Amino acid sequence: MHEYDLIIAPLISLVCIAIGLIVYLYDSKSSAGKVFAVISCSIGVWILGAFLSDIRSIDQYSLFFNRLVFVALFFLMGGLLYLPFVFPNRSKFATYIKWPLVIFSVFFGIFALVTPYIVAKIEFEDWGSNLTYGNYFMIFTVFAFAAIIISLVKFIINYLRSKPEERTKLRLFFEGLFLFMLITIIVHVVIRNIVGSDEFYRFGNYAAVIFVAFTAYAIVKHQLFNIKVILTEIAVAVVSGSLFVEIFLSKTPLEWGTSILLWIIATYGGYLLIKSVIREIKFREELQVMAEQLGHANAHLKELDQMKTEFVSLASHELLTPVSAIEGYLSMLLDEHMAKVEDPKAVKYLTNVYSSAKRLARLIADMLNISRIEEGRLLVEKKDINLSELVLQAIDEIHFKADEKKQRIVFENDEIRMTKSELNKNDQNQKFETYGDADKIKEVVINLIGNSIKYSKDPGTISVHIEKVPTPWVQEKWQKIEEDIKSRPLDDQEAIHSAVDEHFRNFVGSTQLMIAVKDQGIGIPKEELPRLFKKFHRVGDYTTAESQGTGLGLYISRALVELHHGRIWADSEGPGKGSTFTFTLPDISDKEELLKMEAQAPKKESLKPLAKPTKAAEDI
Ligand code: ADP
Repeated sequence: MHEYDLIIAPLISLVCIAIGLIVYLYDSKSSAGKVFAVISCSIGVWILGAFLSDIRSIDQYSLFFNRLVFVALFFLMGGLLYLPFVFPNRSKFATYIKWPLVIFSVFFGIFALVTPYIVAKIEFEDWGSNLTYGNYFMIFTVFAFAAIIISLVKFIINYLRSKPEERTKLRLFFEGLFLFMLITIIVHVVIRNIVGSDEFYRFGNYAAVIFVAFTAYAIVKHQLFNIKVILTEIAVAVVSGSLFVEIFLSKTPLEWGTSILLWIIATYGGYLLIKSVIREIKFREELQVMAEQLGHANAHLKELDQMKTEFVSLASHELLTPVSAIEGYLSMLLDEHMAKVEDPKAVKYLTNVYSSAKRLARLIADMLNISRIEEGRLLVEKKDINLSELVLQAIDEIHFKADEKKQRIVFENDEIRMTKSELNKNDQNQKFETYGDADKIKEVVINLIGNSIKYSKDPGTISVHIEKVPTPWVQEKWQKIEEDIKSRPLDDQEAIHSAVDEHFRNFVGSTQLMIAVKDQGIGIPKEELPRLFKKFHRVGDYTTAESQGTGLGLYISRALVELHHGRIWADSEGPGKGSTFTFTLPDISDKEELLKMEAQAPKKESLKPLAKPTKAAEDI
């Protein structure tokens, strides 16, 4: 025995017993707490017994202490066998094995203590003590072996079946056990047999404290706050107790008075401290419960959201067919060549019904498109596109609507009536070509120009402009927008989430094509700018009063642009000062990189095309 054993052994033994008692006191409601207390105290008694039996000056008790070690070991094995049946959850077998195990351990514990059948005798030699086991020692060996194997197997089963929060607890248990085993093997096998030193072998036993500490932590993990209260209570009790003793040690009345005063102040202060710690703990516990509830609610909401998307998709699909039929027949009814409606009042009513049916059809198609985008099932067919031509086509489709509202559309500083050949002449130096889905990009351009027409009251000019810009410039611009959104209230932060997978959304190449649509319309207040791209978002009453809309156009446009590795944003100097909507697309020269990036995107089956009717010019 070494000198350090004189301190370490009793200390570790006391720590084990103390941890066992603390866990028992603060988790006495659960069986795990009780069983753990038995295990931990048994380890304490085992270490203490082994230590005491080695002290030469009391060698007349050595046999007793050695037998005590086996009492402790019987309880330890019983506890170890029972623990996986109550931790992390109580299994239905626990009830059946509890009493047989208690009776077995108690009986053989007493048997080991009072009979020579487990530990027969001890003889002291010069080199140390020699322990002779009794005739029934096999009972212990078999029991210990069975207990360890069953316990380990059951723990592994528990681990495999555990929920994530239980898994962390079990992992702690396994980590403690592993460290304990590792140290035991190192000191018993490696150091003792290979290095040939006996000096550290007891450290194998001492390492049990690691297992005890880890398991204790795993069991009381959620009640750790309580331990803070005990510590505060102990600290207050120690201070108050020593000050109380001071009172009796006082000699003069002055000392006596001061001690009493100090004691009162310290005790009252301590009382307040404990109260505040308890209050804080309650608060934190409530917070923890709330956080857990919030987590569950969040998971539930996500599930509902998924169900909603599926429902909207299904419902829109079913609705679109009959609504399109209504729209088609109404259009025929109103066409003078196909049918005759004599009554002008009937024509007026039918026209109203027709425009409502068209709006309804567009709304349904928008919803369907949104669910397709959100589920990643929108079919995007990319090919090489001449962007200038595409913009010109879009303008062609929409110009009559602009004429109605006295808006002039200018493209590249030229009148829109510029012909294709003129365009090509203009474009000789600057070619704006991209790789994408022409229909979808056109949809975005029509939507933006359409909005400019819709949200302009006075006659004015709408200019469409394309240019090449460096990618870092766009990245910086987008970063600023994201930072602005992050600093906003929670409701607005929704605007940061994209409906599009990052494989389609990431920037490609060093330059981007930038298409800007600028109007002199009603403008947009600054704080509204990032919100415009949220689903169903419309700016205040003064615009809604002006015209009808759904607040879906820009949301869909954003998704379509992001499906092309681009970004879209809005600028405005404020109400009455016009607005500019800008979006970017990759340059055709970066097609290779783009294809490579998209090849890694998760593949979705049953891709569907953009639902028609899309935002047609006459709907604006
Ligand atoms: P909708 O036009 O159907 O309401 P959008 O998503 O296209 O839906 O637009 C969302 C909102 O953004 C509009 O309701 C409008 O308030 C605002 N907005 C869009 N474009 C402009 C514009 N060019 N000028 C002013 N406000 C605009």
